[in-house]
Amino acid sequence: MEGNCRLRRENLWAPWRIKYIQGLGKSSECFICHNVKNPQDGTGNLVVWRTPRCIVILNRFPYNNGHLLIAPLRHIPDLDQATGEELMEMILLVRESQRALSLAIKPHGFNVGMNFGRSSGAGLPDHLHIHIVPRWDGDTNFMKVCSDTNVISQSLVELLEQLKQISREHGLPRLD
Ligand SMILES: [Zn+2]
Repeated sequence: MEGNCRLRRENLWAPWRIKYIQGLGKSSECFICHNVKNPQDGTGNLVVWRTPRCIVILNRFPYNNGHLLIAPLRHIPDLDQATGEELMEMILLVRESQRALSLAIKPHGFNVGMNFGRSSGAGLPDHLHIHIVPRWDGDTNFMKVCSDTNVISQSLVELLEQLKQISREHGLPRLD
């Protein structure tokens, strides 16, 4: 048992994601496109920012508190189809997301990454997106990997409201 735990602790382990994994393939609608097309959904869609070419959304099934997704508005699978303006806006939003999260929840670090294709672990391979995952010293170590302890300490809606408040106060996102 102890050996097993030590092995698994090397990963950021998120047991609540099973709901997401079990839901894969059940819905044909891309949730990013759904959020793009339904601005009236309010807090239900967890959209933090809408910018001219992109959308920034709180991941409903986060790896860690404050896990954001940055995506172009267009339903495109990879960088080849993105325009220079879209790519520029996405990387500026990486910067702005880090700024907002740093003000809101003071992470010690970030993982920023992209997955291409299902074999890479991409849950939504058809709509390009960048993951921003806040990290804290020891955040994998305190997870009780042999239980179902949920480490997400702040509700998604509460965090969404906090990020929107910070955005208003600090004039985020800045795209210049
Ligand atoms: Zn889409």
